[in-house]
Amino acid sequence: MPAKENLSEWYHKILDDAEIVDSRYPIKGMPVYRKWGLFIIREMQRYLEKMLDESGHEPTLFPVLISEDTLGKETKHITGFEEQVFWVTHAGTNELERRLALRPTSETPIYEMFKLWIRSHTDLPLKVYQSCTVYRYETKHTRPLIRGREFLWNEGHSAHVDKKDVKRNIKEIQKIYSKLIKELLCISFVINKRPEWDRFPGAVDTYAFDTLMPDGKTLQIATMHNLGQNFSRVFEITYETETGGHEHVYQTSYGPSFGRLLAAVICIHGDDKGLILPPRIAPLQVIIIPIVFKESDTGKIMKYAEEAKERLNSLGIRAEIDSGEERPGAKFYHWEMKGVPLRLEIGPRDLKEKKITVVRRDTGEKSQIKFGEIDRIEKIFDDISESLRKRAEGKFEGRLFKVNKLKDVEKYVGRGIISLGWCNKKECAERIEEHADILCSDENPMKCIICNGPGREVRIARTY
Ligand SMILES: [Zn+2]
Repeated sequence: MPAKENLSEWYHKILDDAEIVDSRYPIKGMPVYRKWGLFIIREMQRYLEKMLDESGHEPTLFPVLISEDTLGKETKHITGFEEQVFWVTHAGTNELERRLALRPTSETPIYEMFKLWIRSHTDLPLKVYQSCTVYRYETKHTRPLIRGREFLWNEGHSAHVDKKDVKRNIKEIQKIYSKLIKELLCISFVINKRPEWDRFPGAVDTYAFDTLMPDGKTLQIATMHNLGQNFSRVFEITYETETGGHEHVYQTSYGPSFGRLLAAVICIHGDDKGLILPPRIAPLQVIIIPIVFKESDTGKIMKYAEEAKERLNSLGIRAEIDSGEERPGAKFYHWEMKGVPLRLEIGPRDLKEKKITVVRRDTGEKSQIKFGEIDRIEKIFDDISESLRKRAEGKFEGRLFKVNKLKDVEKYVGRGIISLGWCNKKECAERIEEHADILCSDENPMKCIICNGPGREVRIARTY
């Protein structure tokens, strides 16, 4: 395994060795998800969908094809995606009269149906989601899970009676995504209100969840958009008010990218030995390794390992025994690389004392527990998650910088997120963006680093 300092080499090797994705599929930017990666994605999806269900969202699944008329209805939207759309132009040998697009995102097809589904104020709010693949012809350098031409995500869409309810929904989604990212995946992030030129095409406002990769670049892992009435006007989504009038709905859309979340988990938690996975998403949570010195002990040790596995499985813990022929050292190395949170070692001494040796993947800490206390492992999982969360938070906060002078930007650029003052003028933004992208989020008043005029504090960083 290459050292993690060489992030790109390390990343590609771990995707391969840990069976996350295989990028050798003969279409650029479309990797094949393999069992270890897909398991983690499905856990995220399950966790997220449960929260969305509980908050009143309905699951849906829309067709992957969008008619050209539908996709083109909102002008800014189509202009924003124009260069990235894959078109289906033929059916067999016949050219289609009207082209069909592979969805780059699903605002337009979903809002065609919203128009039919929404009649009265009693139908509102309407909130739906789908977990699906989307297609974008990326021209930038593609990177597995981070920038692909097909990717997996969950997208949510909503319609509301007014701006107030839109605000409320954005707040709720912010809570749900924060839980997914911080509670389940143990990752830190900041939410940035994107500058005007970086908004989702057709949106009034875009809020992005940005995390920090170990190379100091930010990765956008989820977004939320306030769409105002931009789409409801062109799709004619209206409802009858309590007093019998007709109004256009207000809308929001939002989504995290499962691939990017997975890439963040891999890069932020991993180390030179390989993956480190938060226990709740690990495909395998415990690996049991029998350590046999004398041939005559084999039967007894295997039986003891079997008992431990059954006990763990009955607690709902994903545990397996590695009874292969390799030496224990080789097994340790393999399962550490795969990121299995706990290794149980069972040797003659453990057997004699009715104990089990427990080794944590995240800290390497070794301890012994009594067989009768094996359910304490659930508590150890919580400790691991908490410690991963703290470690990620520490690294994240250590990479936030605040500067007043342009020459300090050069000093910190590429090392993390830099806060500085910006006056909101485009010409100053251009000068700032010679160094790094403006992620935005205008908070405290702060003088513009370029023109010294009154401005607000914004964040900048090199980005993926
Ligand atoms: Zn300025």
